[in-house]
Amino acid sequence: MLLTITTTYQPATDLGYLLHKNPWRLQSFALAFGQAHIFYPEATTERCTAALMLDIDAVRLVRNRDRSQALEQYVNDRPYVASSFLSVAIADVFGSALNGHCVKYPDLVTTPIPLQVQLAIVPSRNGGAVWLKRLFEPLGYTVTLTPHMLDETYPAWGDSPYFTVTLDATCCLKDVLTHLYVLIPVLDNDKHYWIGDDEVEKLLRRGKDWLQTHPEREQITYRYLKHRRDLVRTAIERLTAEEEREQDVAASATNVEEAVLEQSVSLHEQRLHAVIEVLQESGAKRVLDLGCGEGKLLKLLLHNASFAHILGLDVSYRALEMARSRLHLDRLPERQKERIKLLHGSLTYRDKRLQGYDAAAVVEVIEHLDPARLAAFERVLFEFAHPTTIVITTPNAEYNVKFALLPAGRFRHKDHRFEWTRQQFQDWAQAVAAQSGYNVRFLPIGVEDEVVGAPSQMAVFSILIANS
Ligand code: SAH
Repeated sequence: MLLTITTTYQPATDLGYLLHKNPWRLQSFALAFGQAHIFYPEATTERCTAALMLDIDAVRLVRNRDRSQALEQYVNDRPYVASSFLSVAIADVFGSALNGHCVKYPDLVTTPIPLQVQLAIVPSRNGGAVWLKRLFEPLGYTVTLTPHMLDETYPAWGDSPYFTVTLDATCCLKDVLTHLYVLIPVLDNDKHYWIGDDEVEKLLRRGKDWLQTHPEREQITYRYLKHRRDLVRTAIERLTAEEEREQDVAASATNVEEAVLEQSVSLHEQRLHAVIEVLQESGAKRVLDLGCGEGKLLKLLLHNASFAHILGLDVSYRALEMARSRLHLDRLPERQKERIKLLHGSLTYRDKRLQGYDAAAVVEVIEHLDPARLAAFERVLFEFAHPTTIVITTPNAEYNVKFALLPAGRFRHKDHRFEWTRQQFQDWAQAVAAQSGYNVRFLPIGVEDEVVGAPSQMAVFSILIANS
């Protein structure tokens, strides 16, 4: 297993200082699973390459293990591919560089320099080339992949799951090492050699500056923690803590502002009643209110006997507390209490508890989601929760010119990440519907203006029933 790191920063041999490894010497280290060798195939002022070669002792790995799958334990790809062993080796032999220490040139640690990383063989079994790009490109790398055939003598067998991966970027070496440390085990589907309860800490510490905004953060967390549910949940809760904090702040202040702007409660009430009407028409019994906020829609749902089971979800704990008190949850008669549940969670994470519902309402929520997280939301709702009917409302940005109190170009609410025109909303909704097997229709909310339309807009998605 070979990892090389090349720079053309000048003098290029400063790479040796950054890595704390002398370019003029071969160094070998004994690790629990084999040997790590560090050497420099090239070390000039113009260009310097450091190589980390791992010689994994497959026989040693098998010792003290269950022998029931003996052959598989001896005959496997462990010695040849980048796996969690490489992460352990990076932490062991490049620990100072990984932690951003450089005695001789401390400033160089935080200086972006041109770097090229090559990983001789990387397994990407679930998702192949696309997954590799989805992991590294959002971090600013130019990703070049060379696929390898399963067997060159039998081309018909096609490609193997193995790639040679080249990553180019101008960035800090410690960041590159950190990305490799986390993402290599994510790519490797095999069991972690080292998974333990402190993995959540390691993941969050190493992912501190980039994981939260990475569009694949959920998958990264799942795969890094090797689907250990208890650990994944803790990690996700901590990763969403920031989102939660933002929404808590937003919940307390600005809904009032928006209500004032939108001519008091009336527009919001019209919105909620329009949603109830659609839900009722759909015949739904089990209903989700996603991003339920302080529970206004929940209250209407609870008062309507046609909805037998109601689940409200919000990322803001504070909003949920307000909902709890608005609904008098503690004082409800037992039968009513059984009809409704509140759940603390984020719409950008897959959640089994959202499955098995007839309908979902997502009222004035999408514009609070970071555009980078919309794709995750789409999958969570349309693919995993997959209710028969989905109702989504969002402001109509064209209408904003009619709000005298709203300065031009500003959003209706401080926490809105975007506001869409009718066309933008319809384009998005139609694309999502087509992709997920839903039909979609659109309805205005509030009094329509001839030019700019209605103040709010609603999309109603219905699942397409396959003709069999
Ligand atoms: N649907 C409610 C509240 C709308 S305000 C109503 O119409 O009255 C937007 C709500 O979305 C807030 O309560 C906010 O906490 C919630 N929210 C924002 N991002 C979320 C996320 N990622 N997951 C779940 N809820 C979210």
